[in-house]
Amino acid sequence: MEKPLINQAKCTNCRICGKVCPKGVFGEQEGKVFVEKPEECIACKACELNCPAEAIEVKPY
Ligand code: SF4
Ligand code: SF4
Repeated sequence: MEKPLINQAKCTNCRICGKVCPKGVFGEQEGKVFVEKPEECIACKACELNCPAEAIEVKPY
């Protein structure tokens, strides 16, 4: 199983990851993007590849 990890120091909260994710893994709370449903991740890496800040790493857990 893999899931995305967000480097909060790099993330600009642009929400692109949430738009490209086919599984609705990302959520948002008080303007901060976070990994809401890691169990839904299919490790397609669309989020990692499309994050303009290179803030996402999809890793095994
Ligand atoms: S795409 Fe990258 S910078 Fe944008 S909200 Fe997602 S993790 Fe943050
Ligand atoms: S790897 Fe794919 S399914 Fe998993 S969070 Fe990123 S975009 Fe969504």
